[in-house]
Amino acid sequence: MPIDITHQAYYPVGNSATGERALVYREISLLEFQDQFNSEKKCLDYLFSVRWPDGFRCPRCSHSQYYKLTPRGLYKCQSCGYQASVTAGTIFHRTKVPLQKWFWLIYRMAISKTGVSIAEMGRELQIRDYKTIWVMAHKVREAMAQRDARYRLAGLVEMDESFFGPKSREGKRGRGSERKTTVLIAVSVYTDKQGLEKPGFAHAQVVTDASAEVISGMMDRLGVVQEDKESMIQKIRTDGWKSYGKTAKDKNLEHHRVILMNPKIAGHLLPWTHRFVSNVKGVLRGPHRGVSAKHLQRYLSEACYRFNCRYWDHQLFNRLLFACTVGKPITRDSLLAPAIATCGELCQ
Ligand SMILES: [Zn+2]
Repeated sequence: MPIDITHQAYYPVGNSATGERALVYREISLLEFQDQFNSEKKCLDYLFSVRWPDGFRCPRCSHSQYYKLTPRGLYKCQSCGYQASVTAGTIFHRTKVPLQKWFWLIYRMAISKTGVSIAEMGRELQIRDYKTIWVMAHKVREAMAQRDARYRLAGLVEMDESFFGPKSREGKRGRGSERKTTVLIAVSVYTDKQGLEKPGFAHAQVVTDASAEVISGMMDRLGVVQEDKESMIQKIRTDGWKSYGKTAKDKNLEHHRVILMNPKIAGHLLPWTHRFVSNVKGVLRGPHRGVSAKHLQRYLSEACYRFNCRYWDHQLFNRLLFACTVGKPITRDSLLAPAIATCGELCQ
């Protein structure tokens, strides 16, 4: 699999095993968006072009001739009779909401710097049912999460934990805070041509605790490849918490410990993880007014996706729309089940 190294992270480009191609994203302005997707037919035609870039292929027998059964994107193979939906395998499968509204939601979520609120999108899309728009937004977030999970980190990686949850009256902070959700954050760091340190890609993950075992598991997913002894992450920078030290030793990584004499200046010593957390907390307090701990991971994934895509400002819509058509869709039931039944603590 070819590897493209960019900003101290690498990601697979194309996948010969699954037939996925290297992607070519193009820029799109608001005016172009409005022109390109101003009807259901145009939205369906776009999905067709993503699903079958070389023309229709029957998923069962690979035949190329078809009958078009409905204007809603259902095609019947002329050879074996298999009926293929252009929305199958996308987040739009069996939706009752017009694709035009879906595409507008994706456009807004893609270009926003901070995320958009459900109430705001409900007004813009003229969808009054809160659950409907909530499910739509979370399906898009899930697509972001799946796309972002493909990225791996490399080189120097700054790591830290943060704690999300209601403000504690006792003022207990940091590790051991009750009623808080622990989140591990990792940001790859590189030096630019002027010799200045810059953040590359970020990952944030809800974890049970900050033990060496949990940190080690996250690092394996992020870029420490143990099987063939190839390590993309070479060095970590942390506050010296013992679990990081053990992980670095186990994985034979360099470990730069910054000494936190005063927690108030932690932001200077671990700047990129702290900046990331402060941005995320701002978004959770702002447009979303706090989110349930049970859904925090998807909001974190959205923040990571947005952070990691910042270099492709004008391609954001195109990239996100593509992610929504190729990811493994999550069902409405599995999204709703844990959330509406019992709301967890609000994370702010
Ligand atoms: Zn067929």
